[in-house]
Amino acid sequence: MFDSLKFLEYVKKKNPNQPEFLQAVEEFVVSVEPFLNSNEKYLNKSLLERIIEPERVVMFRVPWVDDNGNVQINKGYRVEFNSAIGPYKGGLRFHESVNLSILKFLGFEQAFKNSLTGLPMGGGKGGSDFDPHNKSDGEIMRFCQSFMNELYRHIGPNTDVPAGDIGVGAREIGYLFGQYKRLRNEFTGVLTGKGLEWGGSNIRPEATGYGLIYFLVEMLKTREEELVGKTVAISGSGNVAQYATEKAIELGAQVVTLSDSNGYVYDSAGVDKEKLEFVKKLKSVKHGRIKEYAEKFSGAEYFEGKKPWEVKVDIALPCATQNEIDEKDAKVLVENGVIAVAEGANMPSTNEAIKVYQEADILYAPGKASNAGGVAVSGLEMSQNSLRMAWSREEVDQKLKEIMKNIHKTTVRYGIDEFADVDVNEEGALEGIRTKYKVDYVKGANIGGFIKVANAMRAQGIV
Ligand code: GLU
Repeated sequence: MFDSLKFLEYVKKKNPNQPEFLQAVEEFVVSVEPFLNSNEKYLNKSLLERIIEPERVVMFRVPWVDDNGNVQINKGYRVEFNSAIGPYKGGLRFHESVNLSILKFLGFEQAFKNSLTGLPMGGGKGGSDFDPHNKSDGEIMRFCQSFMNELYRHIGPNTDVPAGDIGVGAREIGYLFGQYKRLRNEFTGVLTGKGLEWGGSNIRPEATGYGLIYFLVEMLKTREEELVGKTVAISGSGNVAQYATEKAIELGAQVVTLSDSNGYVYDSAGVDKEKLEFVKKLKSVKHGRIKEYAEKFSGAEYFEGKKPWEVKVDIALPCATQNEIDEKDAKVLVENGVIAVAEGANMPSTNEAIKVYQEADILYAPGKASNAGGVAVSGLEMSQNSLRMAWSREEVDQKLKEIMKNIHKTTVRYGIDEFADVDVNEEGALEGIRTKYKVDYVKGANIGGFIKVANAMRAQGIV
């Protein structure tokens, strides 16, 4: 018999002072407990004890020289979590909060997310406590080069393929790729999120945000709802938030908030194409703050030090960072009549917030399912690199849409009570779910992601 509480005690003892990692493991094991107890083969040979242990963790010193000639030191990490179904794959995060607990939670979730995409990618994550804010371009480049001076010996197109995450965008991937190429003297698909002219994929920048909306549309269909005319609160203003906004407004929704770590803007008229262009430039060229949105567009208001969850909306899309919605925020969202929460960020809802959604029976998509579009197109970028070919925007977008629909089907399949078989109609809507079944997307994503990784591990012996 598998007892999730007892198992969590073991994990806690083995991993002291890693609250985020423990939180991710708790969300996982509590939701898969009944499944494990009716599929005992997954309880043999300490499979679970192995699956929560990263295969390898590399920690290293990143020294670099700032513009004033001072030597700065940061911590560098790569957590190679699981390679059962493919090379380690996952982003690099540059943010002052980065530590081992955060990277282990991200790597752990990444393994199941990548499995859900249906593509052959293992799970990994890395990064640094380097804060890219207020750094010159030269400082960013020197930092990236120093980071790669160590990382290059641990990665490779068939070993470990990093990409971007918070604080790592096209510019950083460029500097990292340039240094890797120089050190190894080879041009390979060792990183994803590359520029279009040098091996990048169409739709990669858009993929996480677009994929989130494709998933949301599928989820809404199960309750005979649609996106048109819905008001949406989005947090964040980076890559994920921008392209979630773009796709949501294209499909007829009204996005009324965006945010950053300082506060949020509320625009009752809704973000339109022109305003979104301003945000894209603000973030990628000026590296400015979202406050400037409210200074630029009359009618928009800025709320310093606050999060957008107090605004009355139909749909909430957290696209900023972990634990940005706590129990109190979730209660406010529910009281204000939210019908769906879909996560663009990784673990943006605390486990207590998730309980609030579940008790209120609103639609809730955990990040490892709904934000998998980014890494999915990274997987497509790897395929294109191996083929030495580039697919068109339309082709990649179509593949992304199909992948998100399939992830939705998988999560419903394993998230429905008793794992009942369901009929899928032409549109991909699942007949009769509303009246017949309740879908637990947390359970569905966890079991759906777990099975493939666990089967591969079982087949590969005690490794
Ligand atoms: N950092 C993204 C994620 O959380 C993308 C990873 C990738 O493309 O490898 O899934």
